[in-house]
Amino acid sequence: MSRSALPRRWRRLPAATAAGVALLLLAGPATAGTAAPADREADAPAVLERSADEQADVVEVTVDGTAQLDALVATGVDLDHHVTPTEAGIVVHAVVTPTEVAALKRMGYRVGAVLHDAADSAQRVSEREATIAAHRAENRAYTATLERSAATSDVKIIRADYYTSGTNQVLSVEAKWAQGQTSTSTLTVARDSGPGTEIGSGGTQNITRFVDAGVYLYHRGAAAVTARPQRIQITSPTGDVAVAEVKEWLPIPADSPEGPGYQKDFVTSYLTPTELYDRIKRLADAYPQLAEVVKLPYQTNGYRRKAQVVLGGTNATRVAVDSLAWGHEGGNDITVELADPGAADRPLSVTVTGKAIRVSLGTDAAGAVTSTAAQVAAALTAEAGALVRAYTYRGDAGAGVVAPVASTPLTDNLKAPAGVSRDPHPVYAIRIGKYRDGSRTGVLAYAQEHAREWVPPLVTIETAERLLRNHATDENTKQLLRTLDIWIVPSINPDGGHYSFYDYASQRRNMTNHCAPGGATDALARNSWGVDNNRNYTEYSLFDGYSGASASCTSDTYAGPGELSEPENRNVDWLAQRPNMKFSMNLHSSGNYFMWSPGAYATPGRISAPRPTLADESFFWGASSRILTAIKRHRNMAVTPARTGPISDVLYSAAGNSGDMLWYKYGIYAWNFEVGTSFQPTWEEAHQETMEFSNGLVELLRVARDFDKDKKRPTSTLAVTPSATEGSVSVRFDVSEPAAVFYTLDGSRPTFASTLYASAGIREGGETLTVPAGTKVHWFSVDAAGNIERNYRPDDDSLTFNRGWATLPTG
Ligand SMILES: [Zn+2]
Repeated sequence: MSRSALPRRWRRLPAATAAGVALLLLAGPATAGTAAPADREADAPAVLERSADEQADVVEVTVDGTAQLDALVATGVDLDHHVTPTEAGIVVHAVVTPTEVAALKRMGYRVGAVLHDAADSAQRVSEREATIAAHRAENRAYTATLERSAATSDVKIIRADYYTSGTNQVLSVEAKWAQGQTSTSTLTVARDSGPGTEIGSGGTQNITRFVDAGVYLYHRGAAAVTARPQRIQITSPTGDVAVAEVKEWLPIPADSPEGPGYQKDFVTSYLTPTELYDRIKRLADAYPQLAEVVKLPYQTNGYRRKAQVVLGGTNATRVAVDSLAWGHEGGNDITVELADPGAADRPLSVTVTGKAIRVSLGTDAAGAVTSTAAQVAAALTAEAGALVRAYTYRGDAGAGVVAPVASTPLTDNLKAPAGVSRDPHPVYAIRIGKYRDGSRTGVLAYAQEHAREWVPPLVTIETAERLLRNHATDENTKQLLRTLDIWIVPSINPDGGHYSFYDYASQRRNMTNHCAPGGATDALARNSWGVDNNRNYTEYSLFDGYSGASASCTSDTYAGPGELSEPENRNVDWLAQRPNMKFSMNLHSSGNYFMWSPGAYATPGRISAPRPTLADESFFWGASSRILTAIKRHRNMAVTPARTGPISDVLYSAAGNSGDMLWYKYGIYAWNFEVGTSFQPTWEEAHQETMEFSNGLVELLRVARDFDKDKKRPTSTLAVTPSATEGSVSVRFDVSEPAAVFYTLDGSRPTFASTLYASAGIREGGETLTVPAGTKVHWFSVDAAGNIERNYRPDDDSLTFNRGWATLPTG
């Protein structure tokens, strides 16, 4: 469903503000339900078929453009999180088996090599600080150019970020060009080489269009540099100029939030879901005053399957046989034999001896076998129906004459040791905090919605250990546990997790087979079943008409038969419903992304789920920079600005994902990690990634604590600059921290019903208002914790709002 109620953010706001409601009305009913699932099935393109007994690789696929990318997605191919526009086309990473690679090639896709993050070695240079005072005059000229170009230029620089990553120095630039939708031109960025140097002296770099679902978003690109530039300049193809200061992305402060003696590094190997749950139980036993294990209300369907076999070679001669009992409950003991009676004119017959089923095939006058697959399947179901159900292959008529087959066991093909339960599996959380009564600010961290992502669960375990083992000695940790109600779920999807460890390493989904009879229900399809737990949620889902999820039961982005059809998803919904829940982290891998809502859009038109307000967006960015800085502390690995932001701005649409449900339905500040560089890296790398992202998860807890303790009121100022419009001026609001600004231009008292100051556009800052010179401006700001500037009370007759005039400063 798509929600129409506003979430409980900016918590002193009344239930609906005018601006918020308008936003939802625009994006809600206009898009919901435009494509029913049935419509999608009717014109569904051919989908890839995965053969069993093959492991998948991550390979690079290059497509010509977004149309071909859409076609690729429509095949049901399993893409990880890399989408890179290049001169040769859009490069994506597909997780595919050799059979699927062959199929992709047959379909005409360019399949390349495995892409690795470049291990570069540029020299580290440190000329950060220089005497800017000497260049004060130059700065004034620059400021004038900046203001002029901001008012009139057709190109606008959104971000210019310098950062170090490993031993590299990088400049990442994003800019929006007014002609970007229609012209394919790249933009050239000229850099200086530090304070006081000429533009161009640091070299140039090209940035390319970022177009998704046919819509131009902005130009972007990163390049290695040998010195930190102070300024950049872009001259658009029309000759317009934009300039900007370069900011440092994720500078590492000298002081660490980890006190002396802070303990970490608690994981020594990958852990299966069974081991993860054992680990949190032991941890809670060791710290009964601070932690408890909570069994979530919904059990999974279980790491279990019916025993199956497919007899015969070609489709027309194949007979598929499934046990009625689960494999571990007797199905695996059943055998089936198709025997040539070795005599003429014999009828088709079936005998059952215990769990041994023997089919004596029919013969003609010459003694040749005549029984068809359809006849054998019908006879098996009729005569051995207490043990098995048999059917022809995937809806085939089964007219081919079968060949004799020696006695063959049915099997559930599950290879996990007996210690892994085959029963419906409980999902466990560890709840950490001194006061676990719902009175504290709630934070939720959950991992392994996707089974094959083995590192994210370790991040949650490492974090739980850090919290509990440092509590006695570290005041900072003690404060986190006093302030917060922390819920950590190391594995949301234990069935898929076990399957990934023991049977099929590339398993992404849960293990529930929703394929209908006549479809891919036989043993040969066993690696193609399951629901993508990160597409089964309730907001902006496939069922609401949003893009990036599949209605096919064998697709790796299968959304399931309906919203919250899966127990794994109902558990997350149950956790998110807790009234005190305010922050969350959904841990995935890979790609080193850090993202938040919106995570879905509808096509055509790329109609996004509602964007957060400017204030929420800046709160997301502010907290993100803290979290990413903590990650970078470990080994200078920078999550890049190009991989930070709303999911649909930096990646692609993912209809029905969990972050969107938590944000839109419950008003939780919901982030997503995409940890590391691959699903199952070498242990050495997995260990490093665990340490990095546990730093980030602990920092999220500090963000939550600071939010809880935030009693500081925001302050704001009015900035007035010249406008290109005769008789008007440009007006912006600047705030001291992420805060919503409500304003009036007609001299009236501002309230929560007044206009909400908005973003200028995707990844841009606050909008610039053009108002008649001399306009009276009244406004106030309110931060995420609900603190209002100057103790103003918008709902009574308080008069302590801000007042200003839209007039240019003199001089
Ligand atoms: Zn994932």
